[in-house]
Amino acid sequence: MSYIPADLRRAVLAQSGGCCEYCRIRQDDSGVGYNIEHIIAVFHGGQTVVNNLALSCSRCNLYKGVNIAAADPYIGDPTFLFHPRRHNW
Ligand SMILES: [Zn+2]
Repeated sequence: MSYIPADLRRAVLAQSGGCCEYCRIRQDDSGVGYNIEHIIAVFHGGQTVVNNLALSCSRCNLYKGVNIAAADPYIGDPTFLFHPRRHNW
């Protein structure tokens, strides 16, 4: 886990609107604190910069892990996972 400075945390919280950027459930409605995670994991060369950080609930964060792609369950082909800065919800 990478250290994320307080100013970056505030910027990520502001851009997220207080919602998990993957499932869009509001942090205030969840009853638990969310994580700030790397969209492209450090493992894959992702940097600790605001455009590569997202607010994420624990379920989405654990489900995604360090992955950036997965097999499409219907056709089996590799498919990129949702990217909060590149894809529209
Ligand atoms: Zn979520």
